[in-house]
Parts: sequence; structure tokens; C-alpha cells
Amino acid sequence: MSSLDTLVEPTGPTLEVVALGGLREFGMNLMALSFGETLVVVDAGVTFPESELPGVDLITPDLTYLQEHRHRIAALILTHGHEDHIGAVPYLLPLVQGPVYGTPLTLAMVQPKLEEHGLEGKDRLKPIKPRDVVTVGDFKIEFLRVTHSMPDCVAVAFHTPVGIVIHTGDFKVDQTPIDGEQFDFHRFAELGSQGVLALFADSTNIDRKGFSGSELEVVDAFEEIFTATQGKIVVAMFSSSIYRMQLLVDLAAQFDRRVAFVGRGVSENSQIAQRLGYLRIPAGVQMRDSDVRTWPGRDVVCITTGSQGEPMAALSRIAIDDHQHVKLQDDDTVVFSARAIPGNERHIGRVMNHIARRGADVIYEGMKHVHVSGHGSEEELKLMISLVRPKFFVPIHGEYRQLARHARVAAKVTNGRTDVIVADNGDLIRFTRETGEIAGKVPVGRVLIDGTRTGEIGDEVLRDRKHLAYGGLVVPVIGINRQSGVVEGVPEVITRGVVLDDRTEPLIRDAGMIVTEIIEACSVEERTDPGLIQEKVRVDLQRVFRKRSGRRPLVVPVIMEI
Ligand SMILES: [Zn+2]
Ligand SMILES: [Zn+2]
Repeated sequence: MSSLDTLVEPTGPTLEVVALGGLREFGMNLMALSFGETLVVVDAGVTFPESELPGVDLITPDLTYLQEHRHRIAALILTHGHEDHIGAVPYLLPLVQGPVYGTPLTLAMVQPKLEEHGLEGKDRLKPIKPRDVVTVGDFKIEFLRVTHSMPDCVAVAFHTPVGIVIHTGDFKVDQTPIDGEQFDFHRFAELGSQGVLALFADSTNIDRKGFSGSELEVVDAFEEIFTATQGKIVVAMFSSSIYRMQLLVDLAAQFDRRVAFVGRGVSENSQIAQRLGYLRIPAGVQMRDSDVRTWPGRDVVCITTGSQGEPMAALSRIAIDDHQHVKLQDDDTVVFSARAIPGNERHIGRVMNHIARRGADVIYEGMKHVHVSGHGSEEELKLMISLVRPKFFVPIHGEYRQLARHARVAAKVTNGRTDVIVADNGDLIRFTRETGEIAGKVPVGRVLIDGTRTGEIGDEVLRDRKHLAYGGLVVPVIGINRQSGVVEGVPEVITRGVVLDDRTEPLIRDAGMIVTEIIEACSVEERTDPGLIQEKVRVDLQRVFRKRSGRRPLVVPVIMEI
């Protein structure tokens, strides 16, 4: 069934807006706007799996809706270079017929992803700057400067035949941005006074009071750390935190230390940012990571990945004294300069414990102001609504409680003059000049990605991985007489990764006999069909393990017909 079957028929020209991700969840932001024959997509983000999805590296939105409309997809617009906005570009790009618009830094961060996926797309990446306007079919698309936790971020205004629609992207109001590039209040206000049909606005921090504050605010805390630390300073951050890198580089220059970028993410991004002029490192301040060992600790700052306790990141290796170049000493200080993403606390705590064991000092957000959010708090989000004064307001980027709260705040700010639409992924919102309503539903979902090339993972693979991870592997090797279905000898049972305890040990010892009994309880017909008997042994032996040991290993019977 085509998704269009469920839609109410429009009368007259309408604008249709549908989010395939980013509503009632954090991450994988992707929104499609279409008018007539033109469809444009804003952002193509991913989200990262929690630990209950073993072996899954990335999650992207289900792109079925866009596949159905691929002939109409005229452009992809990117608001900024965070993974939850650009991570799915390689998966979406083959469906896009036209260019990809973004600021130079955003596009520079997309480029390596395309190369990694073997995609030819370089000439389709079209750099824009704030206040540029491009025409794509029925849309005139305008870019507006916003401030966030990294440079070169834009909001997007779509001038459509039914009115202006603004998508804020991620933003906060930083009035003293590190790069001096100011939030474009004026243009937002101008559009607001022209009349804006709909505003789609970031809800991430709606439940925080006041203002989020400038990136500059962390300087004081870092000055204290630079003053007090006798040895190395190691700072873990998100690899896209270019502003934070700049701030540390400046402090390092001031305190006569040198900066080493340790870990793939921070070195790649710092190189991109330097090449494009977004990160300025005075001559002589940067050092190679391989030189860290030979330098006195008091002369060194390491900027590194691993603020979320990711086991393969540089900081985790450093914490367990297993890093090639960086060894912690007891006069070193390690700073976690990032928010702990919910779900990562345990991993982060573990890394902190290892660091403490090395004797180094650990500092994180709760102790000193070493991190500031890139998303606007309640007052900044109110300001956006006041500037734009939209006819319709749609909160985006947040779980249900953030969207609902943002909706309530918007109603208060506009005194009920704005209609608020709280939508879900897949809700098709239809706008005319006068009206806006949810008019249908398109297919949505999540696609689990394993590695960068190997493609999608089904539920079955996940189930198997779970069994493997938690229960180990049991392989009964069974010889069966092709004609009679009689088991030849006692099946050998090989195990890997099964925990040996009072309950599993006797079970494994007797497993051969148990398998024989399972097979003998079957009919000859079943026994002489390798496919059937394999499944029977798998299910029954798994059940015996579960009942007698409480464990659920992955059982993979090997049937040899004799
Ligand atoms: Zn962002
Ligand atoms: Zn985001």
C-alpha cells in the first residue's frame, strides 16, 4: 500500500511537511518539505544505539517515504555539521536528484563520509553563507546565521507559495560567540514582521530555565585548571566542539603550553577546521601526539575524544594506561568537557575510576563550569518565538515531554494567537495560506546500520547477537543416518563463551545425551529432514539451557547426514 492512500485529498496548492526523525526523540533529524513537484529535505541525521543493540553502529531514519518520492527530491539542505544532522547523508544522497546545500564547515564534515562510502558527490556539495538565497523549484531557500556549540550553523527560511516556513536547526543565543559571528536577530525579526506561516523550532533544552550562556563562559573554569595543574591537562570533548578547541588553544598559548590532538575524531576535525580558517592555532602551539611522551607534562594540553566513555576512544585507552603516546601521571588533570548523554553514565564513571587509579585528578561538569550547552534554554526559545511570531508553531528536536512543554511555552508567549501542532515522526502536516493540520501518516521507522558498508541489520541478527553476548555459543555436532534417522554415536557439543558454573557444567557434560534424547523423541520424518531437525534441536536445547541454567546461549546445531 502506498503511503498516499492514507492521506486526505487536498484542495488547491498545499505545502506538505513531514519529519522522518527528530520528533519525540533526540537524534536522527530529518524533515521533508514538498510543494507541487518539488521536495526538499532538511538535515539527514543519525542517532547512536544504546547498549541493548549489540554490534549496531548507527541508526538512521527509515527512508521509505523518500524512496517513494525520489524523483521529486530536488535538494538536501544541511543546517550544521553535527552527526544528528549529517550522519545519514551517505544513505540519503543516492535518492537526492539535486545539490546539497550547507555552509563550508558543514560540507567539509560531510565530505569524508561520502569518501568512506565510495560516493561521488563532491561536485554536488554547494557551499552557501548566511543571507544567501537559492531557488529550488517552487521554493526560495534562505539561510540565517544562528549560534550553537560549533561554528557555521544556520537556520533555514523557506519562501513558499503559501508562506514563509522557518526551521531553526539547533541553536542557542550566544551574544559573545568565539568567532564573532553574531546570531542574525535582525533577519528573524524582519521575516517575523513580513509574516511567517510556520516555525519549526529546536526543543532540546526547553526544560532548562533562563539562558544557556555563551561558549565563553567556560574560560574561567579552564583558567583555574591551567593555573592549578602541575602536569598534563587532558580535555575530553565531542570531536565537533571546534569553539572549545579554539578556547583551549588560546589558553595554551597564554599559559605557554602546547596542544596535541589525540584521537581520530578530534585530529580530523581540527584539521578540517584549521584548513577552512575556523580554528586558528598560533605558530609553535600545536605539537604532534607522538611527542607527548617526551615533553614535560607542565608544557602539554591534550585534546581528546572519549567524553562519553566510548571503549575504543583515546581517553578510554589512556585511562587504562594502554595508549601509545599518552601516559597519565599523578600530577595530571583530566577534564570531561561535555554533557554526559543519558545512558552513558556507567561507561563514563568507569573511565573516571581508571583515571583516578592512575593518580590523576578528574574534573567534570558537576564540579566546575567546564561545559556549556549548545542548545537554547527556555528564555532563548521564547525569544525565537517572539521574533518570528509564526501563525503555526511546531516544536521539533525533543522527546514528547520537551515538545509538549515547548508547545505550552509557545502558547504563553503568543497569548494563544499561534496555533501549536505537536506532531510525531511520519505525521504529514499540510499547510495552506490559512490552515495547518496533520493530514496523514507516512511510513517511518529506524534502520540499524552495522559498520559503514555492510548494510542493514534485521531483528534476527540482533537476537542472535544478544544470545551470543549474554549466553555464549553452543554448537552440537550431530551425525544422523540419512535413511533411518538414527543418531550415530553421541553428538559432540562444542561451547564458546558459556559461563561455567554449578548449573551449566553438568548441562554441558550431558548435552550430547540431551541432544540424542531430543532427536529420538522426533518422528522419523522429522529426523531425516536436516532443516527440520536442526531447528528442533536449536529450540529444544535452548529451552533446556534456559530452564536448567537460566542462560540463553546461541545454539547452532550442525547436522551431518551419514
Ligand atoms: Zn547540533
Ligand atoms: Zn542536533
